Amino acid sequence: MTKYIFITGGVVSSLGKGISGASIGKLLQLYGFKVNMIKFDPYINVDPGTMNPYQHGEVFVTIDGAETDLDLGTYERFLDVYTSKANTNTAGSIYQTVINRERRGDYDGETVQVIPHITDEIKKRFSALKKEYDITIIEIGGTVGDIEGLPFMEAARQFRLENKKEDIMSIHVTLVPYIAGAKELKTKPTQHSVNKLREIGIVPDMIICRTQYDIDDSLKRKISLFCNVDPECVIEAKNCSSIYFLPESFRNQSVDKLIMQKLKIKPKRSFDSSWLKQIKAIDKYNKTVRIAVVGKYADLKDAYKSIDESLNIAATDQKAKADISYLDAEDKNLISKLKDYDGILVPGGFGIRGIDGKIKSIKYARENKVPFFGICLGMQCSVIEASRNLLGLKNANSTEFDENTEYPVIDMMPEQKNITYRGGTMRLGHYISDIIKGTVSYNLYKKEHIEERHRHRYEMNPHFVEPLKKVGLTVSAYHKNILPEIVEIKSHPFFIGVQFHPEFASRPMKPHPLFKGFIAAAIKNKKH
Ligand code: GLN
Repeated sequence: MTKYIFITGGVVSSLGKGISGASIGKLLQLYGFKVNMIKFDPYINVDPGTMNPYQHGEVFVTIDGAETDLDLGTYERFLDVYTSKANTNTAGSIYQTVINRERRGDYDGETVQVIPHITDEIKKRFSALKKEYDITIIEIGGTVGDIEGLPFMEAARQFRLENKKEDIMSIHVTLVPYIAGAKELKTKPTQHSVNKLREIGIVPDMIICRTQYDIDDSLKRKISLFCNVDPECVIEAKNCSSIYFLPESFRNQSVDKLIMQKLKIKPKRSFDSSWLKQIKAIDKYNKTVRIAVVGKYADLKDAYKSIDESLNIAATDQKAKADISYLDAEDKNLISKLKDYDGILVPGGFGIRGIDGKIKSIKYARENKVPFFGICLGMQCSVIEASRNLLGLKNANSTEFDENTEYPVIDMMPEQKNITYRGGTMRLGHYISDIIKGTVSYNLYKKEHIEERHRHRYEMNPHFVEPLKKVGLTVSAYHKNILPEIVEIKSHPFFIGVQFHPEFASRPMKPHPLFKGFIAAAIKNKKH
C-alpha cells in the first residue's frame, strides 16, 4: 500500500517546501522505505523549459527528457533516485491533457469543468508512482490562498476523503518571522495560513515552521492551540549552513517517528545513520578552491543550482570547500578578474548575450593553463574559440549566433532543421556516448560507455573534428560515432568541454567524475 505525504506552503513562497519534503523522504528512506516525490506547479506554462531562469531558476532535465522545475534536482540529490516526466506536473500540462481529451470527444458531450475533470486528472497524477514506491511525497507549488493553486488543494482534499485516513498525511510549511522592533517571533501569519488551508478543507497533521531563531515550547504550544495540531507536530526548521543538515534536525525532533505513527507504518529496517554521518563532511574542511562560473545570470545563483551543487559536492570529496563566484560574461573587467580563480567553468545557455566574454574567458584559461570546464554552450564556445584562435578561422561561429557564418563549427544537424515547434528541435534527456580509450575523459570516467543528459539544439559540426584535432582540441567521445560529445586538450592541466549536462548527475558523496577531475585540477592550481 502506498502512503502519501502532501506538502503545502503558506505565508510566502521560497520557504523550502521541496527541501523539507526531501529531508522527510531521506529519513524514511533510511528506514528502508522506497520514497519518491512529485511536484505540482500551479502555473499555466506546460513545462518550465521556456521560462526565464531569472524568474524560475535553472531548468532541471530528467533522464527521459522532461524540462522541469529545479526542485526535481533537489529530490534527486537528496533521495538519490531518478525522476521522470511522472514527477513533474504543471496546471498547463494538466489542462492540456483534459482539453486534448475533450477535443477527441472522449467526454461524450459533457460540460468539462475544473471539478471533476481537472481535479480527477490531478488525482490520477498523485498516484502515478504508486506501483514503484512505498511512499510518495507530493509537493504543491505556490502558497495557500493563491487562486491558481485552488484546483490542486481541492484535489488533495478529495484524495484524502477517498483514501484511508492512515494512508495520507498533510504537512504545511510556514514562516515564523522575527520582528526586530518587538524582539519577537510572530505566529500570526502561520495561524492565518492554516485557517486558509482549513477553509479549503485540508487539516494539516504537522506544521513545519521556517525561522531564523529557536522556536521554544511556549511558542510551539501557541501554534498547536491556534492551528489545531499536536504540540510535538509543530516542527522547527531553522536556517542551517547546509540544506543537507535538515534531515538530522528533523530526526532530532522525531519527525520520522511522528510520520510513521500517523501513517501506521513500521520501519523496514533499523535506521541507517551512515548518510547523516557522512554528510557532516560538508562543514569539515577549511581549504578553499576558488571557481569562477562565467555566465549570463551572474546575480541569481539558482540559475546554476545543479552546477553549484556539483562543484560543492566535488570539493567536499577532495577535502576542500568550493568558493564559487558567478561572473557576468558581459562585465568589461571580466578577464582581469579571472586571475583570482583556480578554475574557470562556462555553463550552458541560450542566445548570443555574453558569448564574447565566454570565448575570451576560455582563451584566457587555455593560454594560462587554468583548469577549464565547459558545459553545453560552454563546450560549444570552446570549439568556437579554438577554431578562431588555433585554426585561424576568423569569424568561426555557431549558427545560433550567426546563421551565415563562413565556418559553422557549431550547427544544427540537417534532420533537425525542418522542425520549428518550440522544444521540438532539442536533443533532450539521456543519450549514450562512447568514450575513446586513452583520453583524459576515459581516465576520469574509467569506462567506455556513458549516458548523460542533454538539452540543446546545436551540435559540434563533424567537419571540423579533424582540423581541430591537429591543433590540439580532440574529440574524446561521440554519440553513434558521429556527434561529438566531449572535447579536450591533452597538454593542458584540465581542459574539457561536454555537450551534455553532467551537473544533473551529482549526488552528495557521489561526485560526478568530470567535476571531481576539474576540482582536483583546480586545487593543484591553487593560487592562495
Ligand atoms: N544554445 C545551445 C544549443 O541550443 C546550448 C544549449 C545549452 O547550453 N543547454 O545547442
